[in-house]
Amino acid sequence: MPMNVQANLAKIRKKLIRRAAQNLARGAGVRENFEQQLERFYDLLEQALTTGDPAWLDAVVYDWVNAHTQTDIVEGQKNATALLNILFTLTNEVARETLNKGEALDLITAVQPIFISSLDKAARLEMENRVAFFANEVASVQQKLERLDRSKSNFISIAAHELKTPLTLIEGYTSMLRDSSTNGDRGGNSDPLLRGVNTGIQRLRQIVDDMIDVSLIDNNMLSLNSQPLWLSHILVLLQKNLDEFLRERKLTLEIRRFPGSQEWLYADPERLYQAIQNVLTNAIKYTPDGGTITVSGRSLPGFVEVTITDTGIGISPEDQALIFEKFGKLGRADLHSTSKIKFKGGGPGLGLPITRGIIEAHGGTIWVESEGCDEKKYPGSTFHILLPVRTESSDPRLAKLFGDLTNPVEGTHVEEKTRTDHPAA
Ligand code: ADP
Repeated sequence: MPMNVQANLAKIRKKLIRRAAQNLARGAGVRENFEQQLERFYDLLEQALTTGDPAWLDAVVYDWVNAHTQTDIVEGQKNATALLNILFTLTNEVARETLNKGEALDLITAVQPIFISSLDKAARLEMENRVAFFANEVASVQQKLERLDRSKSNFISIAAHELKTPLTLIEGYTSMLRDSSTNGDRGGNSDPLLRGVNTGIQRLRQIVDDMIDVSLIDNNMLSLNSQPLWLSHILVLLQKNLDEFLRERKLTLEIRRFPGSQEWLYADPERLYQAIQNVLTNAIKYTPDGGTITVSGRSLPGFVEVTITDTGIGISPEDQALIFEKFGKLGRADLHSTSKIKFKGGGPGLGLPITRGIIEAHGGTIWVESEGCDEKKYPGSTFHILLPVRTESSDPRLAKLFGDLTNPVEGTHVEEKTRTDHPAA
C-alpha cells in the first residue's frame, strides 16, 4: 500500500468528518457524538489500509449495527449499511474535491475493498438482527394468542358451569309443573305452553353441553367410553332420529352400505353418534329443500373412511380449515339466526370443533372438500371422517368381548342400503 494513500486520507479526513456530520447528524450534541464515532471509524480505516486487513473495522461496524432501536429495525431504516454507503460516497466526493485526480483515484481504489468487506459484514449482522427480532415478535404474538385462547376456553368452561345450575333448576320445576298439570284438567305434554318451555330448555341444554364438550376437548379431558360397535348401526339410528327434520325439509338421506361399515370398530358409540350427527345436521342446515345427503365410505388399510356428501351451498376453500375452529361460524354475526335445522340457520359454531375433537380423540381425522360456496349453483360439500380400525381394547375383559364379537352371530346384519326419501312436492 503506497504511503501517500494514508497521508492523503489523513489530509481529507477533517473535511470529510465535518461534511458527514453536517449531512447526517441533527443538533449540536448528536453531531459531536457522531463526529467522535467518525474519528474512530477513520482511525480504524487507516489501520486497515496500513495492514491490508479490513477486519480492523469490525468493532465499529458491530457497534453501529447494534445501536439501532426497534423502530429502526422494523422500518429497516438508519441502518449501518446505509451509513457505510454514504461514508463511501462522501469519501469519494471529498477526495475528488481536495486531491488531484491520480491521488483521489489511488485513495478510492485502496478504500473500496475495505468498504465492501465492511458492508458485507454489516448486511449480514443486520439480517441476523432482523431475523432474531421478527422471530421474537412471532413468538410473543403466539404467546398472546395462546393466552387469549386459554382465557376464551376458561370463559366457556365457567359460563357453561354457571348456566348448568339454573338450567337444572328450571328443568326440575318444569317437570314438576308438567306432572301437576297432568293430574289437572290439561294434559302436561299436550299443553302448548309447557311444550314451548320444554323445547327451549332442550335447546339450552344442548348449547350448555356443547360448551362443556368444547372445554373438555380444549383441555384434552375428553374421555372415551370405547366398546365394540358397528358403524352401520349408528348410521341407521341417526337416519331414524333425523327423519322428522328430513321430512320437514323435504330432504333425502341415502345411507349406502360400504366396505368397513359392517365390521366391528372399537370406539365410543355415543361420541361417534354425536360427531356424525353434527355433520349430518349441518348437511341438513346448509342444503336447500329437496336436496340429497349421501353417506358412504370405504375401507382402507387400518382405517375406515366415512363420507357425508350434500347438495348444499358448499364451503369456500379459505373457510374449509376455519370451520373446525371453535366459533368458526362463517358469515355475519348480525345476520345470525339460531335454528337447529332451518336452511342456513346458524348455531354457536361449536358443532364441528366438537366433532373434530371427538374424531381426533379416537385417533382419526376429519376434513372437508367443496368446490366453493355458491348459493345459486349449490356445489355441495363432502365431509370425510377417517377412523382407525382398532381391533383390541386395552381392557382385557373388553378385548375378550371384542374377540367374541368379531365373529358376530348370524342374522345380525343390516340392510344393504337404507334410504329416506322426502322429495319436494
Ligand atoms: P354452527 O352450525 O353452529 O354454525 P358448526 O361448527 O357446526 O357451527 O359449523 C361451522 C360453520 O361451518 C357453519 O356456520 C357453516 O358456515 C359451515 N358449514 C358446516 N357444515 C356445512 C355444510 N355442510 N355446508 C356448508 N357450510 C357448512
